[in-house]
Amino acid sequence: MTPSELGELLDQLPRKRLLFLPTPFHKLDNLSSKYGVGMYIKRDDMTGPGAFGGNKTRKIEFILGHALRQGVEYLISIGAYQTNAGMQLTQCCRKCGVKPILYLADLHGEGEPKELRGNLLLSKIMGCEVHYVPRVGSDPGSLDTYNKCLELAEQRKRDLERNGKKAMVLPSGLVSEEGWVSYVLCLMEILDQCRSLGIDLQYLFHTTGTGGSLPGLIAGKLLLGEKAQIVSININSRTRDGREICSPEVICDRTIAVFGRLGVAPPTRAAVFDEIHIDSNYRGVNYGIPSEDGSNAIRELAREEGLLVDPIYSAKGFAGLLSYIRTGRIARGSNVAFVHTGGLGSLFTGPEQIGDICK
Ligand SMILES: *Cc1c(COP(=O)(O)O)cnc(C)c1O
Repeated sequence: MTPSELGELLDQLPRKRLLFLPTPFHKLDNLSSKYGVGMYIKRDDMTGPGAFGGNKTRKIEFILGHALRQGVEYLISIGAYQTNAGMQLTQCCRKCGVKPILYLADLHGEGEPKELRGNLLLSKIMGCEVHYVPRVGSDPGSLDTYNKCLELAEQRKRDLERNGKKAMVLPSGLVSEEGWVSYVLCLMEILDQCRSLGIDLQYLFHTTGTGGSLPGLIAGKLLLGEKAQIVSININSRTRDGREICSPEVICDRTIAVFGRLGVAPPTRAAVFDEIHIDSNYRGVNYGIPSEDGSNAIRELAREEGLLVDPIYSAKGFAGLLSYIRTGRIARGSNVAFVHTGGLGSLFTGPEQIGDICK
């Protein structure tokens, strides 16, 4: 399929256009010379609509398109105190007159936040209705507190509906079928930008968490017959029984759902599995805990390129890319792009979230 045919299919989906697209794509000149690899970056931290963009806003354009058609007036979501998705949802809701509500899980049993910082501060400045939900049990990795948040969100939705309001609940990370398709568009932008720069891309790296962006990247690649290998650095936690939340099976199901949404016959599952390369070796101790590699990556990018990445996601993803380059898994002379998925609000939290990045 040609990019313009794919563009037409995407144009048929409900979408509320709020972002500054295409986001910039540029070379990292100093790191490219240092490592002898053409290193490029896709600036999805600059999606807009505010200064702190990210990959969730791409999904929100499609989710809002769908929600507005149904006359939704309230969007309710859940997450951790420093949720990127919740902050980005708040920005986008404010742009189009929908009221944002967040139920935030006290994952670490710290009680209500004593100071407003980072994304939580930003959401509060934008007047988001925020509820803090006490931790259920004592395991920070457990989903019980999130489940409690979801239960309260559903209850709030029912209360609103009893008063004649229309509301929609979105899960943590805005994982939703409407949103997955948005990363097809990101892949199209990247390929277009590579063509303009006259480069042939061999690898596309990004950080995966809830697995909401990878399906669109893979679907876009398969639909356009693109060659670059997608490498996903997974930073999410495992489930209590040791399984990865972002598993190849889940990604395959969602990729096939993207084809369904576009109205295109899906490839075989085997063809999708061939495109999935998830590497969980750069998570560090766990999700949300800064890693030494990640802190090194933050400093290296900041000091070589004047570019900032967030500690929870992109720093670990970029650390993965640097490690592939240093160990020769990416040959010298290759071209590789990294998708910067945003999250910069986390830099303005505290040492427990950002680690030791200033040394
Ligand atoms: C959510 C998030 C990711 C992971 O994206 P998924 O679609 O959840 O896999 C990566 N980086 C940042 C900054 C994020 O907020």
